[in-house]
Amino acid sequence: MAEQPKDDELRPSDPNLSETRFARLRKKKDMPGGLWLKCESCSSMIYRKELEEKGRVCPSCEFHFTLPGRERVVMTIDEGTWEERFAEITTLDRLKFNDNTPYLDKVEKARARTKQNEALICGTGKILGRDVVLAVLDFSFLGGSMGEVVGEKIALAAELAQAAALPLVIFTGSGGARMHEGVLSLMQMAKTCAALAELNDAGGYSICVMTHPTTGGVTASFASVCDITLAEPGALIGFAGPRVIATTLKQELPAGFQRAEFLLEKGQIDAIVKRVDMKQKLAKLIDFAKGSRIAAPAAE
Ligand SMILES: [Zn+2]
Repeated sequence: MAEQPKDDELRPSDPNLSETRFARLRKKKDMPGGLWLKCESCSSMIYRKELEEKGRVCPSCEFHFTLPGRERVVMTIDEGTWEERFAEITTLDRLKFNDNTPYLDKVEKARARTKQNEALICGTGKILGRDVVLAVLDFSFLGGSMGEVVGEKIALAAELAQAAALPLVIFTGSGGARMHEGVLSLMQMAKTCAALAELNDAGGYSICVMTHPTTGGVTASFASVCDITLAEPGALIGFAGPRVIATTLKQELPAGFQRAEFLLEKGQIDAIVKRVDMKQKLAKLIDFAKGSRIAAPAAE
């Protein structure tokens, strides 16, 4: 049996990434009763309630835990302004893919757990009073992998942003293309990039926030082609995982390789924004693009 990759070596090509990893990590990290869990970065024990109160940021080392998509929406959008769109689109299994478990069974499990049809949550709402189209890729749904539905919803979000003349804000957290959909999942890379290019040509404005982990075909497509690319601290961002690269190149990788801080230094991302500052930063960037005179809220 192949050696299991470490947590920071997610393999985008692993079709079982989400289900197995998710279940395993859950089991490993959760203490009896589920009151305490272990930080995957500094290994300190964290009181779950405290972690949730802090927006799932480690109180000891500020590691930004992966956030369920719904929590991200609540954290980002002003209360009472969220209107979900395109939620009804459901997964097709065109290839009748079956790797011991039929693909649609896996989808069904994810649907039951997340109470949503697919990995991308899309809608409109306000960020500190500014109207936006928001798209959130939910890592807890099959590792935030991109299949036909995710691609279609990103394209629809871009079209909506264009038609309504609204900024498009995208959060990513993904293991990459959804291998169960074969080449149809890879096609979404071109499709989402084309949709964003069209939005750009029409004078639209887009911001992508890459969160931990953003990998594979998502990094290599829509996550990297927005006007502004932000990342949360410590986020793993890359195409192939570090272990795959180190094995292929047969050399040691530099410290902090594929982490947000490393990529900021190399110019792949524009800024690193802490979760606690995210809403303010997004509002500022939206104002910046629109030349809006709306005063920044006092908390800034
Ligand atoms: Zn920590």
